[in-house]
Amino acid sequence: MGKTVLILGGGMGGVVAANKLRAKLPAEHKIILIDRSQDHFFYPSLLWVLDGGRTPAQIVKRLDRLNRRGIIFRQAAVQKIDLAGKKVLAGGESFSYDYLVIALGAELNYAALPGLAPERSLFELSGILAAKEKLKTFTGGKVFVVVAGAPFRCPAAPYEAAMILNDIFRKKSIRDKVDLRLFTVEDQPMPVAGVKIGAAVRAMIEAQDIKYLPKYKLTSVDEAKKEIVFENGEKHNFDLLLIVPPHKAPDVIKEAGLLGETGWLPINANTLATKTPGVFAIGDITGVKLLNGKALPKAGVFAHFEAEVAAKRIAEEISGKIPTDSFKGGGSCFLEVGGGRAGLAFGDFYGVPDPKVTMLFPLKLWHWAKILFEKWWFWKWF
Ligand SMILES: Cc1cc2nc3c(=O)[nH]c(=O)nc-3n(C[C@H](O)[C@H](O)[C@H](O)COP(=O)(O)OP(=O)(O)OC[C@H]3O[C@@H](n4cnc5c(N)ncnc54)[C@H](O)[C@@H]3O)c2cc1C
Repeated sequence: MGKTVLILGGGMGGVVAANKLRAKLPAEHKIILIDRSQDHFFYPSLLWVLDGGRTPAQIVKRLDRLNRRGIIFRQAAVQKIDLAGKKVLAGGESFSYDYLVIALGAELNYAALPGLAPERSLFELSGILAAKEKLKTFTGGKVFVVVAGAPFRCPAAPYEAAMILNDIFRKKSIRDKVDLRLFTVEDQPMPVAGVKIGAAVRAMIEAQDIKYLPKYKLTSVDEAKKEIVFENGEKHNFDLLLIVPPHKAPDVIKEAGLLGETGWLPINANTLATKTPGVFAIGDITGVKLLNGKALPKAGVFAHFEAEVAAKRIAEEISGKIPTDSFKGGGSCFLEVGGGRAGLAFGDFYGVPDPKVTMLFPLKLWHWAKILFEKWWFWKWF
């Protein structure tokens, strides 16, 4: 009898899992993908909207395109996951499953920071568009990128944002009139990648005259006074502000009893299985503890590779085979440095005793490789 695989979330992990499952399983088995949004959002290109490299329409694809590939897409908000009953309530409708893949990502937790609105968010299209609008008439002042909580998606993103802003000001010939700073709650850039990579990224941004201020915990934003306040008592006035909001797991996970002590969904780091048989979780929603005690970063590259493994294991189980594939912690990430150049960091994040990460010098080549990757992504999965 045909089985039903239900995938929650049509982001980077969900679309890969759906496509891979469809390719591996005969048509008698149903693949259903649920997302509250009609669009798949390709976040790695979001910062290119800031400098006009992309329009918002260029970085999304409609999820109902998956229907042509034999995947059933349903636009609905997931309201309840009933593990015992093997069903999910979404958009008021009940979906039964034999296998479940949870790929709901990480949520931006605006409530955790008084005064924070989506229009200040570096990770939200509305925040990027508000900053882009402001930049049109900007002639100088204090420009802050602030990381308000960790872990957050794409550890490189705030550094890329600061360097892209530097580039924008340089092109407008107002760089000498801008005090560009990056405040972060972290003690170094990209901590999981190690001290050496952190120092290299710090050197990159300082070489662009961006002030780097680690160990700054943001406690509130005062829009009326155009002021940000930190836990150490410092207050700073800003003219342009972009914040990486604190992140959290979606409430629906907590309500299903799936939340672990890290605040994220615990899984087997290699098989992506949760403690409930037949239920897998991938991507940003998961909490994977590395051997050095740090967490596997929240990045699309991991959501992607985890999705491939989860899909293969489920397809093998359904076909009566013993699943053998396993996620080994490999990943890479481009680091946009402005001027049409990017670095490339890659490595083994399950390395013993620490992740083994290498960073290649910024080149135009890596920037073009990222553009090609974006094109490949939309072609491959849509
Ligand atoms: C600015 C920026 C730049 C980035 N750059 C890179 C990069 O260069 N390389 C890289 O590897 N990663 C990058 N990332 C990180 C990457 O985007 C994420 O790690 C990746 O998208 C995670 O995939 P996911 O499937 O776990 O979650 P997501 O892609 O976030 O997908 C989750 C999906 O679940 C849906 N959803 C959530 N809750 C519900 C609900 N209750 N009901 C229904 N649907 C729901 C959402 O609508 C969404 O479509 C970047 C992120 C940002 C913000």
